[in-house]
Amino acid sequence: MYKTTDDLGSGGVYLDSFEKKKPDVEKRGGLNLDVFDPQLFRKNAEIAISKLERYLADSSIRGLALTDPSVLFQAAKDLMTGEYAGISSNGSNEEKLGAIIDLYLKTGIQVYSTGYMGRQFSGVIPLSGVIDLISSIVSQPSSFYEAGQLPNVAERIMADELNRFIGWERERFAMVTTSGGALANLTALLAARNDKFPEIWSEGTSALQGRSRPAIAVSEDAHYSVRRAAGILGIGEEQIVRLPMNRQRQICSEKVRPALEAARQRGLKVFCMVASAGTTSVGAFDPIAKLAEIGAEKNIWLHIDGAHGASFLVSDKLRHKLTKIEEADSFCWDAHKMMFVPAACTLLFYKNKEKSHGAFRQDASYVFEETPDMYTELDSAEKNFECTKRPLIMNLWVLWTIYGRRLFADKIEYLCRLTEHAYRILEDEPDFETLHRPEANILCFRYLPPNLKERAVRDFQVSIRNRIREDGRFFISKVAIDGTGALRVVFMNHQIDTGHFRKLLREIRRTGQELLTEKSPIN
Ligand SMILES: *Cc1c(COP(=O)(O)O)cnc(C)c1O
Repeated sequence: MYKTTDDLGSGGVYLDSFEKKKPDVEKRGGLNLDVFDPQLFRKNAEIAISKLERYLADSSIRGLALTDPSVLFQAAKDLMTGEYAGISSNGSNEEKLGAIIDLYLKTGIQVYSTGYMGRQFSGVIPLSGVIDLISSIVSQPSSFYEAGQLPNVAERIMADELNRFIGWERERFAMVTTSGGALANLTALLAARNDKFPEIWSEGTSALQGRSRPAIAVSEDAHYSVRRAAGILGIGEEQIVRLPMNRQRQICSEKVRPALEAARQRGLKVFCMVASAGTTSVGAFDPIAKLAEIGAEKNIWLHIDGAHGASFLVSDKLRHKLTKIEEADSFCWDAHKMMFVPAACTLLFYKNKEKSHGAFRQDASYVFEETPDMYTELDSAEKNFECTKRPLIMNLWVLWTIYGRRLFADKIEYLCRLTEHAYRILEDEPDFETLHRPEANILCFRYLPPNLKERAVRDFQVSIRNRIREDGRFFISKVAIDGTGALRVVFMNHQIDTGHFRKLLREIRRTGQELLTEKSPIN
């Protein structure tokens, strides 16, 4: 047992006792012990790292080279020919590894390129790749302190670090990591349901016979995972109450009380409201303060889906978008979006620690201790659905430790400024239509040249987007806004500037005109 920090000091424990173990083939049957050779690991890692270095250094503008799936199946299967037969001395396994890495890099969306403006996942801060390598090798699942000591401590430290921007009492709140925002939303809604309808956990929905049906109120633009969660939790998709939005596509706070009242008259009991801090479609922030006030008045749990925008908390300039987040009962935060770590790393925060245990009420005495000791009180298993779980927090904690808050704030602020500039550029272009004033790093717009027929608008935007994807220089996404297709860019890469955006607009115009001159249903 390590009892003092001196015991944990840099002792070189491993180096002192380093000695190459001789594989003892006899005693292990045919098991190929060379596979486990630490030096082989080093060689393989060096192959990967030199290829990744080149990949990161490539500054060409490129989007995605879509591969015919049958071609990719063939290429992947070709690499699998022959039964694995030991490490051959001619280095063929290294060649194979090199070919696999090349195929992996080549067929991906080129997230480090300035042509990538497509989605909310992005190139990562490269050091996190190094941490992921370590996490894979040390293999310390993080739901229990005894299995992942440092990850569990790091999780508690990061919760406190980030709570500096929330302001809860240290002893009262809780944070748990989940594999993604969708799972965090499900978990929070489960905690909310168990809080407001505790009998359902053991009795099922039959406990509600003859009573008002539980319902969840969300905006039109809420992420689809909320609707799914309603299905999974036995609430039912039909018990989703839609809260009207204003022109900025935020929940319109004046219309919330009437919408809740109308739901009540239809026999629904809204027990939870879900607001977005950064909607997926346009990056809109719902009015947290107003919703918290209504939630408190009506005993409704308020969950904030901050998968995209909760990262704004670390920026002095942008934090105001989340004013009163401390009034929410729970909120989620995807670090793999605007904190630029590899997927998945989601943080789910609860204002009230006890409620976090409410999500999964059950006994599993072989893992959950009746009376926690100093170790087991750090276990997070009773707060999350996952049993074996990656040490999700490690990348974020290490980046935070080594680079500090400023790196994240600077990058997020730059991306939001860039989006505002792009918006102004579009406002000056008569053949483009903007659809919202951006609040984050997401911008939706349409290309509407004078020679386009009104009824073709929807298909036209989608066709432009798909053609651009095929061409492979830029990668952008599409979205339906008010039932009509639109183009969507998400700026995640700080190497992009307004020059790249202007290039994209030229590409959109060229592609659009090309489509209009082709014989197609659009024309
Ligand atoms: C991305 C996103 C999600 C889903 O999160 P995952 O990490 O992809 O599971 C949920 N809500 C919003 C608002 C999102 O942008």
